[in-house]
Amino acid sequence: MRKIVFFCIPAHGHTNPTLGVVRELVQRGHAVWYYSYTPFREKIESLGATFIACDDYDTERKLTPKDAARIGKDLALSTQVLVDTTLALDDMVCQKMQELRPDCIVADSMAVWGKAVALKLGIPFVSSTTTFAFNQYSAKIMKQSVTQMLGMIFSMPRINRNIKRLQDKGYPIKSVLDILQNDNQTNTIVYTSPDFQPCSETFSDRYNFVGPSVRPVTEEIVKTREKLIYISMGTVVNNSLRFYKKCISAFADTEYQVILSVGNSISNGRLLMEDLVTVPENISVKNFVDQIAVLNKADVFLSHCGMNSVNESLYYQVPLVMYPQTTEQAGVAARVEQLGAGILLKKETSDSIRRTIEQVLNTPSYYESALAISEGFKRCSGAKGAADQILTLCRNP
Ligand code: UDP
Repeated sequence: MRKIVFFCIPAHGHTNPTLGVVRELVQRGHAVWYYSYTPFREKIESLGATFIACDDYDTERKLTPKDAARIGKDLALSTQVLVDTTLALDDMVCQKMQELRPDCIVADSMAVWGKAVALKLGIPFVSSTTTFAFNQYSAKIMKQSVTQMLGMIFSMPRINRNIKRLQDKGYPIKSVLDILQNDNQTNTIVYTSPDFQPCSETFSDRYNFVGPSVRPVTEEIVKTREKLIYISMGTVVNNSLRFYKKCISAFADTEYQVILSVGNSISNGRLLMEDLVTVPENISVKNFVDQIAVLNKADVFLSHCGMNSVNESLYYQVPLVMYPQTTEQAGVAARVEQLGAGILLKKETSDSIRRTIEQVLNTPSYYESALAISEGFKRCSGAKGAADQILTLCRNP
């Protein structure tokens, strides 16, 4: 029996793809510990893994709303939060690792504290990447702006001060890139196919493109019209009341069935869900849906282009209308567009939403491209391939 420790950030999109791998490892008789956050406890424990809560060490939760919105855009602030989290977890994690002596650590590419502790304690390490793998070639599709680059250069002194804090605590980390970037030597599980990953041929064979971990359909929904349109902006930044209202007016009393998943933020505070529930009979508005069940029946998906939503959509051969909100989502959307399986929504008006969706519904080539990508996904080694890679890397007992 091997002992494997997972680390992840508190996000469904980063946690869900790892769950199939955890299940596979447990079913093969190995022991798994998973450092995560309370909303994920049940899912993790139901797989037979041991859950360890990181909630009290979540420094991002303590940020002001203004600073929280800068995470991911401001590299100096992001580094500070990552270093604060790593140091906050340091005692608890290092003590547990010395007691457990795991054979391997698997950490999400954004849970950098997992990689840092593996480096510090010399434990074999596998990076888990739920977005596209990143190198100088694939970066071109993720277009970095000049302002971002300049911001990065000017923030270097502050970043270096934070890296020094890690070094003082025994972490052998020379630069921010050591924790943020995976080089060709880092064993990396990438949850997409080699066809969908941009420039996959430029990565070393340590990169394992295992395909998306998409769960099977477990629930059947009723399709009430010939065409079903599904709309969701994901689970993180989804309080776009204005956008949802435009979608509702775009399809009110049309021949289409529309399912709109608006997330939990809409029912909170001043963004009243009641505002949206007085909607026509052909549209249903929900805080959360079984996305797999919906995609199994949907004809088109209007999505923010989170990597998981795109993977799930294409897996079930549903072409996309894409409305990305972050640089990362724009990169994913650009790749889908390049492969002909979707188009970008250019304007946030009811007219544009309806026309763009109808363009996809009425053009067979979007369906053909989605099918080709879906077949590529199904050829991948999946959770079994990811588990094999982790077990090969485990140190000798
Ligand atoms: N999801 C779901 N029901 C919903 C909305 C989202 O099950 O109503 C799931 C979806 O299937 C996907 C994840 O939440 O697995 C969202 O991940 P993604 O990477 O697309 O976006 P994020 O929420 O991280 O922005």
